[in-house]
Amino acid sequence: VVGVEGKFIPKDQQYHPLTEKGNRVGKSCRSRYEQHCLWKSSNFRPTAEFLGVLRSYEEHHSRCVEGHDLQTALDQGSAPKDCQYLIWNDLDGKGNQLVSLVSAFVYALLTRRVLLITREAQLQHLLCEPFPSSSWVVPEEVPHVRHRAKEARHGTFYARALNETAQGRPVTAPKHLVCFLSNLQKPDDLRFFCPGEQKLLEKVPWLFFWSNQYSVPGLYFVPGFRAKLNAWFPDRAVFLHAGRYLLSPRDEIWLRVMRIYTAHMAPADRRVGIQIRAWSNEYKPIITRHILSCAWFSGLLPNVSSARGANSTSSSLEDDDMATPVEDDVANRDAEDFSAARAGERVSVVLTSLRREYAEGVAEAFAEGRTEARQTVTVLSPSAEGEQRTGRMSHERKAIADMWLLSFADDLISTPRSTFGYVAHGLAGIRPIVFNRYGLDPDTVPDPPCLRTNVPGPCFIDHPHQMSCPLDGPAFDIGDSATALPEVRHCLLQWGVGVF
Ligand code: GDP
Repeated sequence: VVGVEGKFIPKDQQYHPLTEKGNRVGKSCRSRYEQHCLWKSSNFRPTAEFLGVLRSYEEHHSRCVEGHDLQTALDQGSAPKDCQYLIWNDLDGKGNQLVSLVSAFVYALLTRRVLLITREAQLQHLLCEPFPSSSWVVPEEVPHVRHRAKEARHGTFYARALNETAQGRPVTAPKHLVCFLSNLQKPDDLRFFCPGEQKLLEKVPWLFFWSNQYSVPGLYFVPGFRAKLNAWFPDRAVFLHAGRYLLSPRDEIWLRVMRIYTAHMAPADRRVGIQIRAWSNEYKPIITRHILSCAWFSGLLPNVSSARGANSTSSSLEDDDMATPVEDDVANRDAEDFSAARAGERVSVVLTSLRREYAEGVAEAFAEGRTEARQTVTVLSPSAEGEQRTGRMSHERKAIADMWLLSFADDLISTPRSTFGYVAHGLAGIRPIVFNRYGLDPDTVPDPPCLRTNVPGPCFIDHPHQMSCPLDGPAFDIGDSATALPEVRHCLLQWGVGVF
């Protein structure tokens, strides 16, 4: 594949084999090939093992989907021979959805289940069909998926199975079961990560995966899964590899991404992404000060000295859908302490937020001051939605476009504990600099304002702590999941645990 920047991706590193027929399912999907040429980090290469798993999955998906009346099978809880299914359903915003979707896919690969997504979640309008010859969308609406979630939580099955095992009776498995892994999960739900629980789930033909979490770190606690994960992802970049394969924005979104990338990011010498996810929808000037303190403290943006009083605003695509970025063409200052490489460089900043004032504030700082080595800083706010409007298509498209634009930056500053940011730095394979304040609390700018976190992938925020797994022996307790395995550790400043 030769990408938009003429970058060549060797055949043995392509997640999708480029065939003459291309993808038979769905429409054209330019991002599937082009996006790989825009991600900067080339240290991460898919292993031959993982590519083999993908090819085998594609064949299995096709065999279990094509020529079967899935709707009837789903309703009756029946399944063709050697086929079991995992139906993903949406929960919360797009970041939450995408991290849980990638987790579901990894789980499907580990358990040889076929991943399907509900029609109601509407992801088919935002992402391309990922599998080459058969769709991943459940043919019709899944009736009462939310209702089923309450009725058929796997915790209930687990309790019954324990009882049946204790009485020496064979375990009778249900045909449908819901795995609920969210911040509202109960201790029973968390037993999903027990090896014995996974043995039970092997008997259930139709599993529903309902989650807003990046649960992959938890999968390492099942020894069989751990061995496979280590073989497929020796670099531990699970989200990056699985996400780069699975997630390709549809052409409408990709067009938007490419227009912005080409006009604003491509011409720059260096691209910086800043993701602002304030819990309050109100504009808070203190957050702008926090952003600037962080950008200067981390050295990602050049410091500005004396004011020059120029008037300027940041550009926002909300005004004319393709505005001209603001330029800080501050002249003539010796680049005393700056490296020659940075003198005169053009830095492009993509700042995503629900409020455009943050991009305006950052641009203003560069319009009014001098940068130390005559750098040119342009700031773009690709969208400014004002508030979260999950479910509205035009809003969702912009959210996805924003995440992908961030992921194409050379370096990132992001908001801790935001799954929106997780998708961006997870795809990029960048360990971001994160603000040293959960929720960007607006009283003061903390010292230090931000630090580089320790994990390039998403974190499992609401992960299990002390958890007993009775089926695995009475004394079994995974203990503190953050210290129990070398692959899984606490995420610095982000909360939760990640894969390292
Ligand atoms: P989280 O709540 O930060 O973990 O991220 P989610 O993506 O799950 O939920 C936040 C939602 O708010 C997004 O999916 C968008 O709908 C909206 N949103 C938040 N920040 C932005 C942003 O910078 N750009 C856009 N376009 N939407 C945003």
